[in-house]
Amino acid sequence: MPTSEFTLIYRYFSALGRGDAVDLSVGDDCAILRLGEGERLATSVDTLVAGVHFLEDTFPEDIGFRAASIAASDLAAMGARPLGMTVALTLPEADDFWLNAFSQGLAAAVADYDLPLVGGDTTKGSLTITVQVLGALPLDGALLRSGARVGDEVYVSGTLGDAAAGLAFLSDSELCSPAPDNAGFLVQRFNRPRARLELGRELLGRASAAIDISDGLLADAGHIAAASGVKLVIDPEQLPLSAALAASASPEQARLWALTGGDDYELCFTLPAGESAPPGCTRIGQVEPGEGVDCGMALDIPAGYQHF
Ligand code: ADP
Ligand code: MG
Repeated sequence: MPTSEFTLIYRYFSALGRGDAVDLSVGDDCAILRLGEGERLATSVDTLVAGVHFLEDTFPEDIGFRAASIAASDLAAMGARPLGMTVALTLPEADDFWLNAFSQGLAAAVADYDLPLVGGDTTKGSLTITVQVLGALPLDGALLRSGARVGDEVYVSGTLGDAAAGLAFLSDSELCSPAPDNAGFLVQRFNRPRARLELGRELLGRASAAIDISDGLLADAGHIAAASGVKLVIDPEQLPLSAALAASASPEQARLWALTGGDDYELCFTLPAGESAPPGCTRIGQVEPGEGVDCGMALDIPAGYQHF
């Protein structure tokens, strides 16, 4: 017997909705979330379309985790405290294997980020996943793209270029030839990126500007430069590369992926000179008068994936 929409919601999604800020979760017409005294709501939404944002044969557990991570990454980039998310799911069919694995991926993100699933929508059509995230910010604080000032220093978290290398490997590109262990690491970095929510909250009140790296460092640093009215000067030699990436591609290709590859979901941020960065972050440059991003190389910067 085909699974009804309501059975499906009850079976796979209604158990993921508990959280500190949740007064009412899945089951009514709206969810009700509580903001603390002196807080305001931060919200963002991201859509993943099969074949555009992930390969058609991606394991559904990874699709669930990645969809939630990509959306949660925007909360991280603002320094917001996670409150909850809603998921609008368009499915070609109600396939129990797929839904079970997908909901396990979502459940992993719910637990990892303390980001309960408080509602959503379920429809039939070609596979599309839309995740809306809700977070809390103090009335007087947020990590914006627009706050970088001349003299600030530029940092990134983690390592860059891994997800692009992982995607290249999955797409059978000869540019990435990893040993099995390294292949596993790089593919995980693409399929299961981790939103830097703790780092974002740590940077709130300290960083002058921040963005999450979804389209590639040069493109995303360019958004900080444009919004702040400054130039970001980046030294490609300082970019943090994982051992797995360094061992799997030529130095030139690894650096190119670190500069232009998207999907790492690390944070790029600016700190006033003298302010120390949290552990796991690397200084990659500084803020100067001017505009755009200067990495000392003439590169054709892809402005991220262009849908139209
Ligand atoms: P309505 O018609 O009032 O919008 P729905 O029938 O779409 O309600 O959904 C019933 C309940 O199930 C709502 O609380 C909704 O938020 C929740 N819901 C629907 N789809 C999902 C989903 N994919 N994940 C989580 N909750 C969902
Ligand atoms: Mg509905």
